[in-house]
Amino acid sequence: MDTAKTTFPDPKMGEPFLLTPGPLTTALSVKEAMLRDWGSWDGDFRAMTKSLCDQLLALAGDVQGDYACVPMQGSGSFAVESMIGTLVPREAKALVLANGAYGLRAAETLRVMGRAVSVIDKGDYLPPCGDEVARALDADPAITHVVAIHCETSSGILNPIPEIAEAVRSRGRKLLIDSMSAFGAIDLDVTRIPCDAIVSSANKCIEGVPGFGFVIARMDALEAAKGNAHSLSLDAHAQWAAMVKTGQWRFTPPTHVVAAFLEALRLHAAEGGVAGRGARYARNRDVMVAGMRGLGFETLLRDRWLSPIIVTFFTPAHPNFAFPRFYDLMKAKGFIIYPGKLTVVDSFRIGCIGRMDETIMRRVVAAAKESLAEMGVDDATPPAAALAERNRLAD
Ligand SMILES: *Cc1c(COP(=O)(O)O)cnc(C)c1O
Repeated sequence: MDTAKTTFPDPKMGEPFLLTPGPLTTALSVKEAMLRDWGSWDGDFRAMTKSLCDQLLALAGDVQGDYACVPMQGSGSFAVESMIGTLVPREAKALVLANGAYGLRAAETLRVMGRAVSVIDKGDYLPPCGDEVARALDADPAITHVVAIHCETSSGILNPIPEIAEAVRSRGRKLLIDSMSAFGAIDLDVTRIPCDAIVSSANKCIEGVPGFGFVIARMDALEAAKGNAHSLSLDAHAQWAAMVKTGQWRFTPPTHVVAAFLEALRLHAAEGGVAGRGARYARNRDVMVAGMRGLGFETLLRDRWLSPIIVTFFTPAHPNFAFPRFYDLMKAKGFIIYPGKLTVVDSFRIGCIGRMDETIMRRVVAAAKESLAEMGVDDATPPAAALAERNRLAD
């Protein structure tokens, strides 16, 4: 564990920090790992793919032999579509647990593929809980699969996956987890969380660059999934079968991204794996949220649902506050923040993930304070009506 020796930030010629949930700020050594070309067919690259899969299976609970790791080209949504389209048979029915944009996107994905789907939509403030999932499954025997979002990145809410998984298991259904923005920083050991598959991508908590995602699926579920897929290129069974046979990706792999990801995995292990990474992100969140509250900002969510991944803040009520101007002022100070992605209230987001520590988060808060002063905003308190609505819905 050489966390003590880790320095933040890496020297990077003044590029801004990305306070966003991926792409995010990566280590200099991760970027440097891309300064070389690899032949996709070559034995060296095949060994890199194998190492990547082995390390991801280890992170998921040392499940080599029971589960398989299937990397898939594209952004995270491509990998979600690959997981769902491959593992949910055409005649099956899925229940999607939604509390934000990514849950709704999973439901849309199923609809586009022509799969039967029903949705529990909890809005923006609350997680789906085990009891209501159990009730929904009891009420509809046609449901075969449940799709859950681990950290719903649109609000930053951390959903209670263990109780959801238990409800799904106790009803004999199958669980697919979108752990895109959580895997690598929040424990997801599939030996303790019964599920058929999880999905994540290179550019979130492992801190690689964008270019591929990966499905970690039960081997028996993958074996049974032959021919399910609605798509040629997103067929996770076919990708897996080809990799087992040849050690290669079926179509052109993002070779540089894979090389960068292996370096990112090395840094992840050096930091103490999931526990070390998660602890740094939690500290980032705590320092940043306390500082922002000191300026009057308030979080969308109650403390108990705040993930260490990304935090949503209400837009302040002050008439001088305008998000585009705040964004530009923050950028001029070296910090790229993130617009909100909620349906009802005005909000913006600040990510806690990427190659940053609490010293950077203190600078973020100082930059927010200066930016408010430059805008002539002396108080960042949200509109009373927005807070009242949150309190009404979230209690
Ligand atoms: C990032 C993310 C995705 C994938 O988004 P892409 O933009 O396609 O990479 C899916 N689900 C969640 C929860 C995410 O955070």
